[in-house]
Amino acid sequence: MAQAKPAAAWSGELPPELEDPLFLQAVGQLDQALVHADVDEAVAERLRYPERALSTSIPIRLDDGSLAVYAGYRVQHSSVLGPTKGGIRYDKAVTLGECAALAMWMTWKCALLRLPYGGAKGGVRCDPRAFSQGELERLTRRFTTELLPIIGPERDIPAPDMATDEQTMAWMMDTYSMQVGHAVPEIVTGKPLSVGGSVLRPEATGIGVVMVVEEALRRLGWPLAGAACVVQGYGKVGGVAAHELALRGARVVGVSDIAGGIYNENGLDLAGVDAWRREQEGLAGFGPATHVSNPELLELPCDVLVLAATEEQVTHENAGRISARIVAEGANGPTTLEGDRILAERNIPVLPDILTNAGGVAVSYFEWVQDLQRFFWDREEIRSRLRDLMTDALDRVWTLAEAEGFSFRSAALVTSIREVADALEARGIYP
Ligand code: NAD
Repeated sequence: MAQAKPAAAWSGELPPELEDPLFLQAVGQLDQALVHADVDEAVAERLRYPERALSTSIPIRLDDGSLAVYAGYRVQHSSVLGPTKGGIRYDKAVTLGECAALAMWMTWKCALLRLPYGGAKGGVRCDPRAFSQGELERLTRRFTTELLPIIGPERDIPAPDMATDEQTMAWMMDTYSMQVGHAVPEIVTGKPLSVGGSVLRPEATGIGVVMVVEEALRRLGWPLAGAACVVQGYGKVGGVAAHELALRGARVVGVSDIAGGIYNENGLDLAGVDAWRREQEGLAGFGPATHVSNPELLELPCDVLVLAATEEQVTHENAGRISARIVAEGANGPTTLEGDRILAERNIPVLPDILTNAGGVAVSYFEWVQDLQRFFWDREEIRSRLRDLMTDALDRVWTLAEAEGFSFRSAALVTSIREVADALEARGIYP
């Protein structure tokens, strides 16, 4: 490692397409961590920008015969450590800047877990709930076709994210495979088992969140059994996390989806909640519980608040009223810089996204390795390898945070940035 130098201020002009609040949040976090990371100024400057971004328009034929065109993006932040890896989301708020922020966080997440990957993210700006299955399939296949020049098992490997799932990945895998003329399961992760998916992948992020919460609480000397937990976002991550918490004896007192939440201070009957959701397609109306809005849910008194919905949920506006003892970020970027500062002032520790939700990419890595080897592992082996990766990362973060007096977020970012910076220094800037 080169001798310590102060972090550089942004030397270039920020290109207008990256003028996005979430990207500024990601760069703001990077800048805060660089002060402590002791990395070379030129290396730090390189890491502020994504390596590559693809912006595309996706025409699809709707069921009524009309044509609609949607904006789609894929951003690759860093390929220093290996192929890039990251989810695909379908959401009305998707922008290039948002994808760039999420791609940067993926770089740090992979580096923190010492996975041989860099970060990427992509998505289509659309309302996924307005589509039929047929429309979703056509959108996915055309988007995949537009991505062909930059994705590949050794280049960039997509995965599911908000409003995409196993079926989306199966269509992506099939579309890619049709182009190259043979089955390529290793092009995406988060696929169905029948086409090379991995056991435990669907639950991995939520399981990983709870592994981190459990270990953090153990180190803090706070019992998880009986702890009151609130989970914002009862989706792929939050739904599993809620069940894993309940399995460990915690009391899940509040959960929510985009339409609002439900609260019962004695603990919710999650099996009942699941049955209700299947019938009603939402949480609203579930009893015995009180209806709460998402802003109210975040401020409920609890021991553990799991943020598993979306970005920018804890902000300067509500951070002063959060009444949790500890916050765990299952979602990416749910706490703004100001929100983070206020929670720190109030001594509410935050288990940061790049550590806490990294279980998903960890098992995605296991899926890719299994696909490449055409040799599959069982559930117990994967759970045990996942626990090893998550606790090793948490241990390195905790040790640095204690030694230097850093927040867990700073410690996680400094650890990740050093991993990437060491590799970038060794490789050098081409040419
Ligand atoms: P999902 O679509 O399955 O679930 C999201 C949940 O949040 C749903 O219940 C939805 O109704 C709710 N929600 C959405 N917008 C909301 C809002 N504005 N306010 C309140 N609730 C809202 O998505 P997911 O895969 O569970 O992802 C959730 C978060 O976790 C995202 O930030 C995603 O990037 C992150 N993440 C997901 C994975 C994964 O493996 N799925 C891995 C790492 C990180």
